[in-house]
Amino acid sequence: MIWTRRNSGLRTFSTVVPLIVMASCRAANRPQPLAEPSSLSESWYAGGSSCAGTPGFRARAYNDDFFILRQAACTNFEKPFLYLVIGRDKALLFDSGAGGVDVVGQVDSLLRGWAARHGRSSIDLVVAHSHAHGDHVAGDSQFVRRPATTVVGRDTASVRAFFGVTRWPTDASIIDLGGRVLDVLPIPGHQPASIALYDRRTGLLLTGDTFYPGRLYVRDTAAFARSIARLAEFARTHTVTHFLGAHVENTRTPFRDYPQGTVDQPDEHGLALTNAQLFELDSAVRTMRGRMVRTVLRDLTVWPLSP
Ligand SMILES: [Zn+2]
Repeated sequence: MIWTRRNSGLRTFSTVVPLIVMASCRAANRPQPLAEPSSLSESWYAGGSSCAGTPGFRARAYNDDFFILRQAACTNFEKPFLYLVIGRDKALLFDSGAGGVDVVGQVDSLLRGWAARHGRSSIDLVVAHSHAHGDHVAGDSQFVRRPATTVVGRDTASVRAFFGVTRWPTDASIIDLGGRVLDVLPIPGHQPASIALYDRRTGLLLTGDTFYPGRLYVRDTAAFARSIARLAEFARTHTVTHFLGAHVENTRTPFRDYPQGTVDQPDEHGLALTNAQLFELDSAVRTMRGRMVRTVLRDLTVWPLSP
């Protein structure tokens, strides 16, 4: 984002989710199994300030159709996470990074590999964003002239129109990548156009800068509180294997974050959060009753930017 998040770090996380987990979906969604196993890598250390010998991204396959990318610290202290989800008909890149790095080359490489493994020559690509801040959209320009690529606009109206959200932000929507449906959840508060994506196949919920192990900068406190409440309600009615945000700023030491602007984070918190931290956040926000104050929780900090 823009508030100085520094970065880099090492973390360790290892989780294996059962092959078949029953998902409890509400309303239009009936319970359905999560079809794909999930193994989340431990260390996401993004390196230090030197780029010597360091690739622009660390890219790992969560499974064959889902990739997690982290931008190297030496290219930008924000070292954001990007996600590449692939369906039968198209792929979706969630965020384009903080700039200063060849993101289209990285994505092309992953998609070429996927296409080769699946006997395909290519696949269409959608570039969407967790929100409109610069450290998540700076790579967009690299995709503008890429063939078979749609770059979703950054403003709320464009996001709403592209995903077909009837009432923003209370309605959810979906995008079908071809045999792979992602739920699109508007979650303004950090930024007006913020969205989360839920992958029904893996149960991963991508939460951008709204929920991650770090400083949750809140611009619109009322909207943020409602968004967290909606996320919590979603989590109560769906199987979420991991919440994956766009940064890591906390250390492995409870209640402690790295100073703003930190580049090298060799002892950083794990990437994934769980229902427990979301429900704790929801409870903390509710307790504030609209008067949000900076609040340090074990794995993250609520950081209002307005009175
Ligand atoms: Zn950010």
